[in-house]
Amino acid sequence: MVRLKGILKFLYEIEVVTGLHIGGAKENVEIGGIDNPVIKLKNFKGLSDVPYIPGSSVKGKIRSLLELSLGKSSVCSCGDCDICKIFGTSGTTAKHPIRIRIFDFYPKDETIELWENYLEGAYTEIKAENTIDRLTSTVRRGGLRHMERVIPGSIFEGDIIFRIFDENEDKRLLDLFEEGIKLLQEDYLGGSGSRGYGRIKLHLRGVVYSSIKNKNGGIRVEKKALGPDNYKNVVFISEGS
Ligand SMILES: [Zn+2]
Repeated sequence: MVRLKGILKFLYEIEVVTGLHIGGAKENVEIGGIDNPVIKLKNFKGLSDVPYIPGSSVKGKIRSLLELSLGKSSVCSCGDCDICKIFGTSGTTAKHPIRIRIFDFYPKDETIELWENYLEGAYTEIKAENTIDRLTSTVRRGGLRHMERVIPGSIFEGDIIFRIFDENEDKRLLDLFEEGIKLLQEDYLGGSGSRGYGRIKLHLRGVVYSSIKNKNGGIRVEKKALGPDNYKNVVFISEGS
C-alpha cells in the first residue's frame, strides 16, 4: 500500500544566460511583426503580455535529457522505470504515483524592472535571423525570420515539488532528477539551441518539507524550512525512523 509520506517543495530561480525562445501562439502577430513570438501571460500583476517559462517546458526537457542519458530513444511509457516514476506516463500505463510537479516560472520584480529600463516598452527583444542557403551561400527566399527572445540576465522563479512515498526508492529518484537539472544547465531550454539560444542556470533558493504522519486514523502535517545543502539528510533520515 503506497502512502504519501511527505512533500518536498523547492523554490528555484532560472537565470537566462543567452537569449531564450520558448514558442507561443502566433495569434496576435501584426503584419510585418514577429513571426516567432515567445509564450506570454495575458495578465501578470496587472501587466499584459509578460513572458514566462511553462513548467511543462522544463519538465519535458529534463525528462528527455535523462532518457537520452539512459539510452532510451523516445518518451518511455512502460509505467515502471525510474523515469516513469518521476515524471509519469500518459494514459493507462501509470502504475505508480508521479513524484515530480514542476510549476510555471514567473519573472521576478527586478527582472520586470530590467525589461522596463532596457527594452523601451516591450518585455522582449526581437532578433532578425537569416536562413542561409548552403549551396549558394545567399539568404534563402523568405529566409529572414524575426525571433522574439527573453534577454540574458532575466530571472524567473517557480516551485518544483517532489512527493515522497517510499524513503528507500525516492532518494534514488530525487538524485536522478537532480542529475537532470545539471544536464539541463549543460544543454539549452526552448528553441534554436543550435544557434546559441537558451542557456540557463538553475539556482536553488529554498526548501520546505511537509512531512505527513498518520495519527489515530487522521493525518498530521508538519511543515519546516530546510537548507538547500542539508535537506536530503533531514528528509531521508527522519523518514526512515
Ligand atoms: Zn518507463
